[in-house]
Amino acid sequence: MQKILNFIGGEMREPIGGRYFETDDPSVGKPYALVPDSGAEDLERAVAAAKKAFPAWRDTPAAERAKAMHRLADLIEKNQDAFARAESIDNGRPVAGCAAVNIARGSANLRFFADEGVKFAGGKFKTGKIESYTLPQPLGVVATISPWNLPMLLFTWKFAPALAAGNCVIAKPSEITPMTAYMLSGLANDAGIPAGVLGVLHGKGADIGAAITRHPDIPAISFTGGTVTGRTIYAGAAQQLKKVSLELGGKNPTIVFDDADLYKAAEGAIAAGFSNQGQICLCGSRLLVQEKIYNEFKRLFVASAKEIKIGDPLLAETQHGPMVSKAHMEKVLSYIDLAQQEGGKILAGGQRHIVDGRCKDGWFIAPTVIEGLPMDCRTNQEEIFGPVVTIMPFKTEEEAVALANGVEYGLAASVWTQDREKADRVSAQIESGIVWQNCWNVRDLHTPFGGVKKSGVGREGGRRALEFFTEEKTVSRIA
Ligand code: NDP
Repeated sequence: MQKILNFIGGEMREPIGGRYFETDDPSVGKPYALVPDSGAEDLERAVAAAKKAFPAWRDTPAAERAKAMHRLADLIEKNQDAFARAESIDNGRPVAGCAAVNIARGSANLRFFADEGVKFAGGKFKTGKIESYTLPQPLGVVATISPWNLPMLLFTWKFAPALAAGNCVIAKPSEITPMTAYMLSGLANDAGIPAGVLGVLHGKGADIGAAITRHPDIPAISFTGGTVTGRTIYAGAAQQLKKVSLELGGKNPTIVFDDADLYKAAEGAIAAGFSNQGQICLCGSRLLVQEKIYNEFKRLFVASAKEIKIGDPLLAETQHGPMVSKAHMEKVLSYIDLAQQEGGKILAGGQRHIVDGRCKDGWFIAPTVIEGLPMDCRTNQEEIFGPVVTIMPFKTEEEAVALANGVEYGLAASVWTQDREKADRVSAQIESGIVWQNCWNVRDLHTPFGGVKKSGVGREGGRRALEFFTEEKTVSRIA
């Protein structure tokens, strides 16, 4: 079985304790690689290497740092097919989606933040005789902790701004999908990223993740993952007054008004509901449809959900792969059972899906549509994070907004209507960090990204991520 290694001080290292655990290929339901079960000693080694590298990296001009990051992006692009295949095996997303989204965004994140880092500068102020300027300065050794659902995209999204701002990073990918982070770490030396500037530590969240949270020499943690873990990290970091950025879960509404272009809205709602098997924090898992078009839209949506091609994620034509793990498949199936106990009617999917051939033991769930549930039931309140969409009618704009806001989460929403004023009115009232009008998951990396309510604390995206990874010092004098 292939062995994954930690990347510390510019070298591939075995975990000091010598322990490994298995990681699975979800499409065949079997282990395929070994992951270091890193501990506190590995973290000490990584922190020491990063502290040693920090002064020189901090003092390297941003334009030089950017060159190294662009070279790393070049290497991702050169190896794009290998990365896409590895990500697909590790995570289950069909290979086409891995290439077009997960891996393409990996290099795009590096390029974007490399260039933002060059532009990033402090401000100048003059009031009366007081002249001031500010110096945004890197924090030192910072940590990033990322989840399994978009491994390469989120791994790079977290560490790229930290590097661009002049920090050294200890990055912990998810134990469930460590492969592409490992492959990327193997390219860092060739890209000219100095030893110690980027450390990648693999292991279990509860062990190495918690040790990172507690470590006194790591002043900031950028985390993407579940709300429960986010709360644990927030509490741990509070003990040492660390800076924390938390990008957490979602229970996002897709709102379709009766004046929407129904075909485009159905296509958008399908992408929102089922992309990456519904395992994206931004997925629209609650579909709210205006009464007058409810039946027609439901027919369109259910028919499209049933047409999604489920199968071997390594085949180019596959649209829908397996769930990331057996445990996650079981969790999602238990929510489908719960939905039925709560009175929901299954309109599509609703069970484990068996794929013939190589993937017969894979952890697949067919795209599932459920109707007939009230907004306050658990199915409509809790993040399921799978290919499960509930559909319900609403009468008025006010009711749509109330239903959209009637959950503890507030990450994203999409609104479908041809009435621009209504779209703007509703967008302003929805409690979420992002609203899409007549589209879904359209991203300009300059824009703020993050949630309200239980979906997160803080904003990343553009210069906000660079601000998170720096402290701005004010220097003032009397003219
Ligand atoms: P988890 O919260 O389980 O894990 C996220 C990361 O945290 C993993 O690297 C995990 O390690 C680590 N971790 C787990 N426990 C601890 C701990 N006690 N201390 C420190 N680190 C820890 O999330 P998932 O991986 O299950 O990802 C899915 C979740 O991520 C969903 O809720 C989804 O909504 C959210 N998400 C949010 C996004 C956003 O931008 N708002 C984007 C994408 C996903 P390990 O894997 O080893 O347990």
